[in-house]
Amino acid sequence: MSLEQLEKLRTQLDEINFDILRLLNARAGVVEEIGQVKRLQGIEAFDPEREKQMLDLLVKENPGPFDDNTIRYLFKQIFQASLGLQEEQEKKPLLVSRKRRQEDTVVTIGNVRFGGGAPVVVAGPCSVENERQMELVGQGLQQQGIQVMRGGAYKPRTSPYDFQGLGEEGLKLLRKTSDRYGMLAISEIVSPSDVEMALDYVDVIQIGARNMQNFELLKVVGAVKKPVLLKRGLSATIEEFLYAAEYIMSRGNDQVILCERGIRTYEKATRNTLDISAVPILKQESHLPVLVDITHSTGRKDIMEPIARAALAVGADGIMVEVHPEPSVALSDAKQQLNIPQFETLMNALRNAKYLPSIPA
Ligand code: PEP
Ligand code: MN
Repeated sequence: MSLEQLEKLRTQLDEINFDILRLLNARAGVVEEIGQVKRLQGIEAFDPEREKQMLDLLVKENPGPFDDNTIRYLFKQIFQASLGLQEEQEKKPLLVSRKRRQEDTVVTIGNVRFGGGAPVVVAGPCSVENERQMELVGQGLQQQGIQVMRGGAYKPRTSPYDFQGLGEEGLKLLRKTSDRYGMLAISEIVSPSDVEMALDYVDVIQIGARNMQNFELLKVVGAVKKPVLLKRGLSATIEEFLYAAEYIMSRGNDQVILCERGIRTYEKATRNTLDISAVPILKQESHLPVLVDITHSTGRKDIMEPIARAALAVGADGIMVEVHPEPSVALSDAKQQLNIPQFETLMNALRNAKYLPSIPA
């Protein structure tokens, strides 16, 4: 065989390759149409009976030189790729996904905008304890121009013998104080049966880390018209976190704020390990606003300022921080709460470094 002949045969082979390529894609087009019909009719994409029929027919018509087994094998590969195509078509992006909604979701409550550009600071005590405590903390927060006050009334405590929160009384006190100082109120609800009652007292329902996968609770808060701040679970992956948010959104509530609050690792130097990379990943994958809880993630007052800077530098839409008028006697999380002067120092540092806007006059 001359080299010339070889070249000619190669050209022929290239042409056949292009024909196969064109035919494979034409076939894929038909497969996609079939997929659409099947989806509308609610028919399963994989049909082993139909595959067997097609393979038998091809083998029957096979003139060789490929033997029947090779033909079966080659066409099986094509069928499998087609099935993959149909499955891909079926996968609709999640409601929380940026693929589903390109623009950032801004959760707007009154004049507070979570995710609207300017970072939001959520501050207040770990637990609502009494009127005087709330009054003092309210004054301190107001002086710093804080717009959202937190305070736990249902406390998920590790020990059943620890302070469990004031319940509805606590929510009432939080409402009263936040109203007096013109702030929004946010508090954690742990039981599905308390959600309805809490609607009267809070502007944002918090779902705590320990309840991130309490699916019944997620379904209930998904069905109400009230923004929800969802905290990342202690051992939850980013994917699990987003699925938890999807539970809420899939029930109709699209006012969801995510909160990274640190995860459990072997590291003991901090209470939890703040997963800082989760912030830009969540912002990339999802359109929801993302806050960072600088208190529960660290459990350490001495690193709160650099952690707050880091959070805002990587794109967090705000921070959450625990503030108590007298942390040493706090009924929960006494070690990690900032007192009012410490909070003021933190806010000044963040404002001076331009991580936060100055207090409106
Ligand atoms: C809280 O914010 O009060 C709290 C208990 O936090 P977490 O659910 O993140 O532990
Ligand atoms: Mn706490």
